[in-house]
Amino acid sequence: MAVLEQAPQRREIGAGIQISPNAMRVLAQLGLQAALGEVAKAPEAIELRLGSSGKTIFSIALQANAERRWGAPYWHVYRPDLLKVLDTALHARAPDAFYSGWQVNTISSTEERVHVTATDGRKIYGDVLIGADGVHSTVREHLFGIDAPRYTGNMAWRAVVPTAQLRNPPPPTACIWTGRGRHAVTYQLRGGALSNFVGVVEQAQWGDESWTQAGTREQALADFSSFHPLIGDLLTQADAHYRWALLDRQPLPTWHEGRTVLLGDACHPMLPFLAQGAAQAIEDAWVLANCLAHKHRDQTSVERSFADYTKLRLPRTTRVQAESRANQRRFHQPDLAYWPLAIAARLAPKAMLARNDWLFGHDVTQAG
Ligand SMILES: Cc1cc2nc3c(=O)[nH]c(=O)nc-3n(C[C@H](O)[C@H](O)[C@H](O)COP(=O)(O)OP(=O)(O)OC[C@H]3O[C@@H](n4cnc5c(N)ncnc54)[C@H](O)[C@@H]3O)c2cc1C
Repeated sequence: MAVLEQAPQRREIGAGIQISPNAMRVLAQLGLQAALGEVAKAPEAIELRLGSSGKTIFSIALQANAERRWGAPYWHVYRPDLLKVLDTALHARAPDAFYSGWQVNTISSTEERVHVTATDGRKIYGDVLIGADGVHSTVREHLFGIDAPRYTGNMAWRAVVPTAQLRNPPPPTACIWTGRGRHAVTYQLRGGALSNFVGVVEQAQWGDESWTQAGTREQALADFSSFHPLIGDLLTQADAHYRWALLDRQPLPTWHEGRTVLLGDACHPMLPFLAQGAAQAIEDAWVLANCLAHKHRDQTSVERSFADYTKLRLPRTTRVQAESRANQRRFHQPDLAYWPLAIAARLAPKAMLARNDWLFGHDVTQAG
């Protein structure tokens, strides 16, 4: 096995990630729960609040429910910490598998093998090629031709701040703050030592070559000036204010050809409004590994494994892509629009929990 990574060093951006029970179950099966538990923060609830006043629209208790109802914890992790845990596990199992500074450039296949050449001319071959190379995937382009991802009309701010620096830290929950044409998400990391901010703003044009660019504190504060002072405090205390263009694509009808297959954002990039992009990539990886396990390596068997994998995964990721998109409308409404939801949550709290069963309760480690 070889993991080919274009970055010269193993690095992750300094931002948080929510790992929901459907993905945590896979990581637990891989024996990573204890290591992740040391660096994670378990949110007490998933909350929806009005961005303007901070008033709670609904709150779904997690600590009592995540493991009991969905079979695994719901955790928040600092991305560099997650990478370290994955890296240590990979090194323990396959110490020579990771190739950094290896940018896949061209791909060619025969009946027996798939050959890959790096931009610096190095070559490697294997039985199969798994393109887990993100939204700008080279492997996808090789399989299905050039097809630029769609700018969704949303950009995201990201910041992480030591919680001790904040006068008014975010609640110890996964908290979504609604607003007109924008929303924010706050949560804590590393047992509460860090506070994470994601702020999404509708913006018709991106208009820049790069999908990531540095912004300023003043721009970020202006975008969230109508929000609760807690958000302003977070943005004031943050050292760096980066902006991301949020991209997605329409679902693909198929994810494979010959000995090459796609996984994660390479085949189903999605808006982060359900916090599921990485979770779905983790589910994909488990299912793909299962479909390939113990099979022969002739082309027909490989293609059959890939077809099984796509059949198992495509309907689910298509639904998650669509629900992620729908959350833009759900989170970007005027304050008054949330009262029916607030009343429904009060009258039927169990129904609020049950609405998440299809997502968090899905167990790829049990499914065939
Ligand atoms: C603001 C924001 C918040 C988010 N929050 C969450 C969350 O809370 N929970 C969640 O589950 N998801 C979240 N996501 C989504 C998540 O970050 C992505 O879905 C996830 O990183 C996709 O993983 P991937 O492995 O498919 O692709 P990537 O993470 O993009 O990884 C692709 C890798 O391939 C490498 N690569 C690319 N091209 C080549 C090449 N030619 N040769 C070699 N290597 C190459 C890249 O360097 C990179 O390391 C969020 C996204 C955003 C933007």
